Amino acid sequence: MKWSGNRLFMIEFASLFSGSSGNALYIEHKDTRILIDAGVSGIRIENALLSIGKRAADLTAVLVTHEHSDHTSCLGVMTRRYNLPIYINRGTWNHVKNFIGKVNEANIYHFNSNEEFTLGDFKVNPFSIPHDASDPVGFSFFAENKKITTATDIGHMNDDIRKNIENSDLLLLECNHDLRMLENGSYPYPLKRRIKGDFGHLCNDHTSQTILELARKGQRRFLLGHLSHENNYPELAFKTVAGCLIDNGFEVGKDIELEVVLRDQTSQLYFI
Ligand SMILES: [Zn+2]
Ligand SMILES: [Zn+2]
Repeated sequence: MKWSGNRLFMIEFASLFSGSSGNALYIEHKDTRILIDAGVSGIRIENALLSIGKRAADLTAVLVTHEHSDHTSCLGVMTRRYNLPIYINRGTWNHVKNFIGKVNEANIYHFNSNEEFTLGDFKVNPFSIPHDASDPVGFSFFAENKKITTATDIGHMNDDIRKNIENSDLLLLECNHDLRMLENGSYPYPLKRRIKGDFGHLCNDHTSQTILELARKGQRRFLLGHLSHENNYPELAFKTVAGCLIDNGFEVGKDIELEVVLRDQTSQLYFI
């Protein structure tokens, strides 16, 4: 069978799971197949990959954003089961190594935050984000003159993040909570304060403002992720961001592609 067209050289991306209950994303280009975070069970990741026609055994590496368990709970299992290299910065590794069980040290590769590195067919830029973890990052992936960025667990937006997420051909951005739902919800006060704080999570309104700024600069493709189970729901997150864009003259679904990626459901495979 012969490959036709330029299908072979596209970047493929999917959200396997995204939300405060567990995270795992997937990106592929040529022979490089990367899992970003491993925060649900191994079997769920394996099945999610199968649902988009991929196999966990074919993964090249797993990249880790930060140590919170919704991003790392099956990191040990995945690296042991598939002899999978882990790319992680030292700050995150120093926390993670104490709770993921025995792993082959030869599979641990350290990157430095804010320093680009090469991983197979991608250049990867791990950029710092403000969050209550030791050295948390988002990732931009570069290949074929395209840029795909994933950025969640963001306490507040700042100019460094704006610079790193702009000009992305696809951006997955956190849209964690609705402020009114959080304030009126059942969480204890210290937890509410943590989520709202400068090192917590990005609310729907701040995500809307950020996406509006990017849309005004010509950015077109957005996924909303890491939704809170308690303090948000997919329709509300979408309505808030889409409403902000529409109020400012954009046609969502025409000028702008906007979708929510879900906590417990694997997205389609996006081709970029
Ligand atoms: Zn998280
Ligand atoms: Zn976190």
